[in-house]
Amino acid sequence: QINEAEVVLFSVPSYACQRRTTLDNHNVTLTDALSLLAENAELSDEDGRGVAFRRAAAVLKALPAPVTAMSQLTGLPCLGDHSLRVIKDILENEASDEVESTKQSDRFKALKVLTGIFGVGSKTADRWIRDGIHNLHQLQESGATLNRAQQAGLEHYNDLNQQVTKAEADAITEIVQEAVVSVLPGAQVVLTGGFRRGKQTGHDVDFLITHPEEGREVGLMPKVVFWLESQGFLLYQKTTRNSYLEVKDGPGRPSSNMDRFERCLSIFKLAKKEERGIKVTVNTVKTRDSWRAVRVDLVVSPISQFAFALLGWTGSKLFERELRRWAGHEKAMSLSSHALYDNKQSRYLRAASEEEIFAHLGLEYIPPSERNA
Ligand code: ATP
Ligand code: MN
Ligand code: MN
Repeated sequence: QINEAEVVLFSVPSYACQRRTTLDNHNVTLTDALSLLAENAELSDEDGRGVAFRRAAAVLKALPAPVTAMSQLTGLPCLGDHSLRVIKDILENEASDEVESTKQSDRFKALKVLTGIFGVGSKTADRWIRDGIHNLHQLQESGATLNRAQQAGLEHYNDLNQQVTKAEADAITEIVQEAVVSVLPGAQVVLTGGFRRGKQTGHDVDFLITHPEEGREVGLMPKVVFWLESQGFLLYQKTTRNSYLEVKDGPGRPSSNMDRFERCLSIFKLAKKEERGIKVTVNTVKTRDSWRAVRVDLVVSPISQFAFALLGWTGSKLFERELRRWAGHEKAMSLSSHALYDNKQSRYLRAASEEEIFAHLGLEYIPPSERNA
């Protein structure tokens, strides 16, 4: 019997970028269930449903205590009928039939395995499934044509599906720093993505590179990649040129979260802990069990866009999406990883730090460790 006075009522603002979401999640069972349904929707090209489940999960991640009764959720934002039904099932029966049957379904399992290959998205996986390919063995037997990324992804499948630890991220940070200062003294490297938010593991390691003098960063990426390649640190890399032009692109494309920085999607060959020397300049490991493959993203930004790039590459993905939605819907502004455009004033708003961007947006500053929505 519940004493009404003891039921904790929760209250949270509706945009994730107005909330402080730490890694300390009191509702893991519920958020795992909703995240699985989000993932299933995304893999099935139902992005709208995916976002709805992500938003619902993010609200529960922001609660200060476990949910024990449906009545506590009254008035909370972003909890649609479907999400509420899933939460109710779990509170009442310890599990949701929909979540369990999705998890067990052949289609979901096949989509997970195939999109677990670096370079394979939901569209490719779906096409393969329609051709009767459900697992890696069938893929290899099928004779399907793989691009260079997918070949590398398949070759390093097990390594790349194993979480990267903070210690491995730190070791890679040292290597990238060495590479960057060797080719451009004074250039700066910042760890972004989940590790900047304080996560202890991740699916990859993300870096943002800049130089305090505008323009000095031009041409940096190919030099860094060449250095890493010649020292034997790269198993795969694909560099994309910078294609951002303020005049041509801005204030535009707020619907797309793809930025146009010079970037390199890569797979590092990281020596295992026992093999890592004191000096990291040359990768000497030879035998297959003395190293492992790790996904690494490198992005180069000019200093004038650095704060926007840092904010945009720190995540979480939902936090970023909510920041852009807040900017557009509440402030008539367009936010990207390059700039902030004020549609009412018809001008760009400069910022030298993340704090200034939050201030322009009329939001309280949320530090990286509290952006884990
Ligand atoms: P994990 O720990 O699993 O790697 P993560 O939060 O670091 O989680 P990533 O997929 O590495 O997730 O992405 C890090 C950040 O980079 C996110 O905020 C995401 O919005 C941003 N990002 C990733 N890919 C792109 C892209 N193509 N264009 C713009 N931003 C991107
Ligand atoms: Mn990451
Ligand atoms: Mn990444």
